[in-house]
Amino acid sequence: MRKQIAAANWKMNCTYQQGEKLLDDILKSKPSLQPQQTVIFAVPFPYLIMASSAVANENNVSVAAQNCYQKKSGAYTGEVSVEMLQSIGIRYCIIGHSERREYFHETNADLAAKTDLLLEMDIRPVFCCGEALEIREAGSQNTWVEQQLQESLFHLPAEKLTRIVIAYEPIWAIGTGKTASAAQAQEMHAFIRGVLAAKYGKEIADEISILYGGSVKAANAKEIFGQPDVDGGLVGGASLQAEEFVSIISALK
Ligand code: PEP
Repeated sequence: MRKQIAAANWKMNCTYQQGEKLLDDILKSKPSLQPQQTVIFAVPFPYLIMASSAVANENNVSVAAQNCYQKKSGAYTGEVSVEMLQSIGIRYCIIGHSERREYFHETNADLAAKTDLLLEMDIRPVFCCGEALEIREAGSQNTWVEQQLQESLFHLPAEKLTRIVIAYEPIWAIGTGKTASAAQAQEMHAFIRGVLAAKYGKEIADEISILYGGSVKAANAKEIFGQPDVDGGLVGGASLQAEEFVSIISALK
């Protein structure tokens, strides 16, 4: 059975002290997790060790980095390597968030390189994909997302692909309060699973968790996560409020 995941993306928010309190509040009140359920906290780099120790005694709770660099090591001032993440025990890393694609000009090829380095170090990429509003309005969202998957992931052999978590995040729904309808989310998730099945076979495609991201909150999580091809969510704004995020965790299948 594939994992059902509630992943919090704190982005560039919270001081260290606020982050510690937020984690503590969530961990104290979250429901106990079923074996197929996982909660991930993607926190800023300086808080990774603090967050890892906060979740150390929790079952099915992990910490993720929000990014990594696509080169192994060297003269890349200000960047963080995959090996550094591995050396502090990180198990997940978000890559290809639309904010990084837009503001830091990350390409599908950069993300293919990040994917390879992460998998080499046994860190699971949470690979973000999704279309901008103009692309959806032109009706080209399927072609766009398929190309993102092809160019960043389809060089992988099947046994490595199953280590990936995919997050479909329509850019027009991120931080805008405008959520894709549950039907729109299901339609794209089924499309993505179909693309994976065409390349790797149905059995492999069925193993891969596909998260929805874009203004998920307590009020809509149950309906969105209830869709057959939606395996939880990548949550920005609502993950910064303990009560909201706990309700989102409670909405996991
Ligand atoms: C995100 O950061 O990936 C995201 C989906 O943000 P929000 O939930 O705030 O739309």
